[in-house]
Amino acid sequence: MAKVAIITGAGRGIGAATAILAAQHGYDVCVNYASNAEAAERTAGTCAAHGVKAAAKRADVALPDEVAALFEFCDAELGPPALLVNNAGVIGGATTVENLSDAVLQRTFAVNVEGAFYCAREAIKRMSTAHGGSGGVIVNISSIAATLGSPGEYVHYAASKAAVDAMTIGLSKEVGPLGIRVNAIQAGTVDTDIHRTEGNPDRPAMVANSAPLGRAGLAQDIAEAVLWLASGKSSYTTGSIVRIAGGL
Ligand code: NAP
Repeated sequence: MAKVAIITGAGRGIGAATAILAAQHGYDVCVNYASNAEAAERTAGTCAAHGVKAAAKRADVALPDEVAALFEFCDAELGPPALLVNNAGVIGGATTVENLSDAVLQRTFAVNVEGAFYCAREAIKRMSTAHGGSGGVIVNISSIAATLGSPGEYVHYAASKAAVDAMTIGLSKEVGPLGIRVNAIQAGTVDTDIHRTEGNPDRPAMVANSAPLGRAGLAQDIAEAVLWLASGKSSYTTGSIVRIAGGL
């Protein structure tokens, strides 16, 4: 029987690349998205073309009831997940802290931090060997912003990703004995829609000039690391924060 992966925010960008690579590795894939159903159905279709089962499901990860419904949908359509990728994330736009709105601050933490917790909670209920599960893997998509701080642009986003890193370390220790590994990837600038939708379309090109490896990241660069962390090849790796940022 195929293993099942739930990947949040998998309609586009890093999540979509990860979903498609997971399908290529033989996972049945639950493609979560927030609003762009067309993109999510396209990702699910590409996954299915690799001979696995795939299903798209809308759920705002910031809302615990919708996260519970996402996991129930996955149980019914594909089976309980062996892999959760907490990928859905927002920046909220560039701003100084002085000018940061309550709404942007609260939404950034609701999606990036609370969403990761809600999804992890549902995943643990299904993966934990203490509940008869077979164990599993959680991969959190963090950012190098967590260590750089992103002054003058998005300190709020950087702080949310630092929270994800702290959650990764604590949770890995809590659930390691339950058969669950938890790791994070601190991604550098990756060429996805996020820069266009957040008002900084030139960021990947600018980073290409400053990164020691001379280019922005590709979604595939991150997806490859996620699938390594999901695999038995990383069976002794947990609580790790893997930086994939072209040397930055
Ligand atoms: P993206 O291209 O903007 O795609 C974001 C995806 O997340 C979309 O599928 C979107 O759904 C979904 N999403 C957003 N809010 C959601 C919510 N509340 N509930 C469920 N899904 C939601 O972003 P990306 O660049 O691939 O980023 C993916 C992750 O990598 C994020 O956590 C981001 O912080 C992190 N990251 C990105 C970079 C980078 O340079 N790109 C660098 C470091 C870390 P819809 O398609 O329905 O809108």
